[in-house]
Amino acid sequence: MRRSITTLAATTLAAATVILAGQPVTSQATADDQVYVVAEAFTYDEGDAVTAAITAASAATECTDTTYALKTWKVGTLNWLYNGAGVPANIASTALGAITASTNTVAKGTNRCGLANLTTSTYTYGGTTTLKPQVSATATCTGNDNKSVTGWGTLPTKVLAYTCTYYNAKGVVIASDTLIDNVAYTWFTTKPANCTGQQYDLETTLTHERLHTAGLGHVDQTNNATQTMTPASSPCDTSRRLLGAGDYAGLKALATK
Ligand SMILES: [Zn+2]
Repeated sequence: MRRSITTLAATTLAAATVILAGQPVTSQATADDQVYVVAEAFTYDEGDAVTAAITAASAATECTDTTYALKTWKVGTLNWLYNGAGVPANIASTALGAITASTNTVAKGTNRCGLANLTTSTYTYGGTTTLKPQVSATATCTGNDNKSVTGWGTLPTKVLAYTCTYYNAKGVVIASDTLIDNVAYTWFTTKPANCTGQQYDLETTLTHERLHTAGLGHVDQTNNATQTMTPASSPCDTSRRLLGAGDYAGLKALATK
């Protein structure tokens, strides 16, 4: 089910996640307004044998594995914008719908386990914009304009999407930008029949990125393989569009933080 056309070793499963936690980026800001930036990459999973083994164990654990990792911020109310420049042609008319679905999944804690909706955070869609996500092609956070923009562009090898999140001294998110690769990988919003090769599900990827915005970090690629917050994703996989028990438990913990 999760085969890859590449043959790199399983050591790439733990491919680099860049974390720049707690670095002040505005030196003149007052303590209360001090802005912090954190960047997270969602890499792709080139594994063959390892991923196949994980798949066998998957279904049984998605609602019993309550593992999560918290970052140091959370969302109160976030207004997000979409820049459709550079959207791949095959999903031009459906990408925004998938990104919206992912955002709503995280807003409500929509999950695979029948757990009740959450109401603590609010994400509102503010429309389209020509502002660009402030994420560079080398995956660095390039500044904060207080706008949360999701859009398309170039990212380093293996990086599907990249999110930079800015939060204040109280740990509340001010803005969060997500850049989605539009060069190296093929995206789908409806899984193609006989899906093969480096084709990835946009909704799964954006659920993962929005969970970073919400305040979750990565869990273990192997031990927590059914959760959406593993560091890497598999081609053609749509099984993690909604939250697993660990992803949900993480959001719940953030709500009471
Ligand atoms: Zn990630």
